Amino acid sequence: MTYQAPVDDIMFALKTAAGLSELIADGTVGVDEDTVRAVVEEAGRFGTDVLDPLNGPGDKAGSHLVDGKVETPAGWKEAYQQFVAGGWGALPCPEEHGGQGLPEMVAMAVCEIWNASNLSFGLCPLLTQGAVDALLAHGSDELKRTYLPKMVSGEWSGTMNLTEPHAGSDLGALRTKAERQPDGTYRITGTKIYITYGDHEMADNIIHLVLARLPDAPAGTRGISLFVVPKYLVNPDGSLGARNDVVCAGLEHKLGIHASPTCVMKYGEQGGAVGYLVGEENRGLNIMFIMMNEARLAVGVQGVAIAERATQRAIAYAKERKQGRSARGRAGDMSPIIEHADVRRNLMTMRAMTQAARAICLVTARELDIAHATSDPAKKAAALARSALLTPVAKAFSTDIGVEVASIGVQIHGGMGFVEETGAAQYYRDARILPIYEGTNGIQAIDLVTRKLPLEGGKVLEAYIGEMQATVEAVRASNRPEFGLMADRLGGAVKALAEASRWLGGALAKNPESALAGAQPYLRLFGLTAGGIYLARGALAAAREDASGAARIALARFFAENLTTAAGGLKDTIVSGADSTLLLEPEALAG
Ligand SMILES: Cc1cc2nc3c(=O)[nH]c(=O)nc-3n(C[C@H](O)[C@H](O)[C@H](O)COP(=O)(O)OP(=O)(O)OC[C@H]3O[C@@H](n4cnc5c(N)ncnc54)[C@H](O)[C@@H]3O)c2cc1C
Repeated sequence: MTYQAPVDDIMFALKTAAGLSELIADGTVGVDEDTVRAVVEEAGRFGTDVLDPLNGPGDKAGSHLVDGKVETPAGWKEAYQQFVAGGWGALPCPEEHGGQGLPEMVAMAVCEIWNASNLSFGLCPLLTQGAVDALLAHGSDELKRTYLPKMVSGEWSGTMNLTEPHAGSDLGALRTKAERQPDGTYRITGTKIYITYGDHEMADNIIHLVLARLPDAPAGTRGISLFVVPKYLVNPDGSLGARNDVVCAGLEHKLGIHASPTCVMKYGEQGGAVGYLVGEENRGLNIMFIMMNEARLAVGVQGVAIAERATQRAIAYAKERKQGRSARGRAGDMSPIIEHADVRRNLMTMRAMTQAARAICLVTARELDIAHATSDPAKKAAALARSALLTPVAKAFSTDIGVEVASIGVQIHGGMGFVEETGAAQYYRDARILPIYEGTNGIQAIDLVTRKLPLEGGKVLEAYIGEMQATVEAVRASNRPEFGLMADRLGGAVKALAEASRWLGGALAKNPESALAGAQPYLRLFGLTAGGIYLARGALAAAREDASGAARIALARFFAENLTTAAGGLKDTIVSGADSTLLLEPEALAG
């Protein structure tokens, strides 16, 4: 079953959740709707024709380290060359560096398509984009001139080197060393693990962004600097020079994303890899956070992507597979399983969760577009604060539902889901990394509660909840019978979110451990409420004008009446469950 990009759904989310039409009208984004649709459709064709056919074979073949070189599966390099030739690497980058200057919203819509058709492939441009963003924001003119054009085009790919064996979530513990050289460069030595696309032969050069510590650096996260370390040094005329002192020492064997090479990288085994400082010494983590925030949103989009792909496959299977007789089936006939109420519930859950997560991600991208475009400092600050609030939700909620939806997809296939033949199992395996990398979802939840809730004394969250409440009122005022209990259920969820937020605000001051214990259920509550609200806004728009209105209203109503109903329980879990979470001391827990 071939992947088909959900162009209508993506356009609908861009318009009704992310407000594309208004941003075009007020000049925030400099494209028109037809162009956006054309880009999404063209990306969809590339995904369907080039990337999707490589996904299953790539999973089976995997990437391998052969004689010190990483070999990606057959067809991978050619597909990457087509990707570069098509100008796909360059979408959101500024035109002065060879990009197309398209909005982040469009870049994220297209990112969904790469990752839905082939998650392992999609990771390579995803990380390159993160590296480009960091250089754009903090690279010197010389670094930008030397590296950006080829990274923007995709001729050179980028990586992100944070993790070390003893430094995962806690980057303050990292030990990779950087030593100043008389010529202004640095010598980098150390080992990084789990480096995605750390080595491969698809691009002519690989530009590693590496976190390392200077000899006189303060301990912890305030002593980390960021360096560009190219695989091949670049001559003054831009041609490739000598091989730098960085090698891939091994590839991880993994549960999923087999085709994406996850590398152990050794720097400086021959005396020190040449590195170039990005920004200021000891400010590396702040810069890396730029890269990580963009990448966190993109990983959220990967969650949407895998959920979309799993849903498409499950629907196709449910239409064909016949078992039992449904309530509407004729005596003696077996019914397609899509007719069984339980399977319909599963499929509705898959579709509704996917569309809710897509909306949250595109809204987060929208705020980045506003921040980028405006010259009004207050508007910029507000957009950045809103995107900061939503980024952990976009990452964690979307990747959690990515795993859940892929799991339901396996279930809909029955035994055929558990065997590898249909591809449903691959999506589930591939999805499982998403809540782990780019900051685990537990860390995202802690970020939401400890850093984002208190933004501007809670005013950023308050304004967001106020807008949610206005949507509830609009749904109620529309008074449409086909909306069912949408207003009541969403109203209940917004109330639960407000109460849980208030409680967490108090707990953070009095008993931070209780607040941390409630962080994950709070992020879920946030995601379910926000997702329900965005679908409701879509339903309101669909009721006004969209030809496919009935289906969109049905999905929004289903979400409100079946999924946001968890909100009250989650609020109780946060407010009155924290104490029992902490009843057993670690020693007793370990038993
Ligand atoms: C396939 C793959 C690709 C990757 N790609 C890259 C890459 O390209 N570049 C890169 O730098 N890294 C990469 N990573 C590393 C990834 O980002 C880390 O695995 C991740 O950040 C978690 O770190 P860890 O594995 O050390 O887990 P740990 O930090 O040991 O965490 C283990 C568990 O403890 C929890 N935990 C840890 N600290 C806390 C805390 N303070 N409070 C509450 N809970 C906590 C975590 O949530 C998690 O559940 C990749 C990993 C994999 C598996």
